[in-house]
Amino acid sequence: MRTDTRDELTTAGTIRRCVAAGCGRDPEGGEPQPRPADAGTLLCRPCRNRVHHQLGRLPRLYRESDRLLNAQAKQVERVSGGRNIGIPLNGAAVDARADVRGFLAAWSQLIVDEREVSAPARTVPAMAEFLLRHQNWIDRHEAVGEFTAELFRAFARLQRLETAVPTRRITVSRCPEDGCPGELEAVLRPQDSRTGSQIRCTHTKEHTWATEQWSSLRRPRRASASVTS
Ligand SMILES: [Zn+2]
Ligand SMILES: [Zn+2]
Repeated sequence: MRTDTRDELTTAGTIRRCVAAGCGRDPEGGEPQPRPADAGTLLCRPCRNRVHHQLGRLPRLYRESDRLLNAQAKQVERVSGGRNIGIPLNGAAVDARADVRGFLAAWSQLIVDEREVSAPARTVPAMAEFLLRHQNWIDRHEAVGEFTAELFRAFARLQRLETAVPTRRITVSRCPEDGCPGELEAVLRPQDSRTGSQIRCTHTKEHTWATEQWSSLRRPRRASASVTS
């Protein structure tokens, strides 16, 4: 019995099933039913389209994750006066971004080694474009199942960052308005650069400041503190 992939692909009467991660997954948790692979490849048409789509979108998603994090880091810094409370979130994003670079670099290298072509620049757009160019070859590669698993996971992690960078609430001080029992919390909305972030009182809705006004807010508090001490 021949086990060569190309022979199996062309054997009449043999239906090869798509090897992509999650193909034909039963949402109810039953046995997955992978779709038949396209002729001459190890993937079905929808999974090939999914690979194509995700490789194409990866560079932009990667770039946006950077912008998102920079915005978040700046806001956190402004409010906390330089203390780095953004680190846990940044950690998740740094990991997700490293995951993408690792995936692209490993598979670019595999193509370079096995096809004896010259390597792409080690940037995310260049490597993603390189993989796209060799997609028909990857679709036939015995490790294409792993390739899809790694791509889908890296893509999903990056995509989750877009929505998961949460609105953060940080209590910053007592409300400086006379007689107000409220506390001020900073509401950090990295996704929403148009309205910006706010510092608002938990007690009285009208006690609201833009984070830009934060330094002027702190002065009366310090002045009153020195009077009482
Ligand atoms: Zn499939
Ligand atoms: Zn208040």
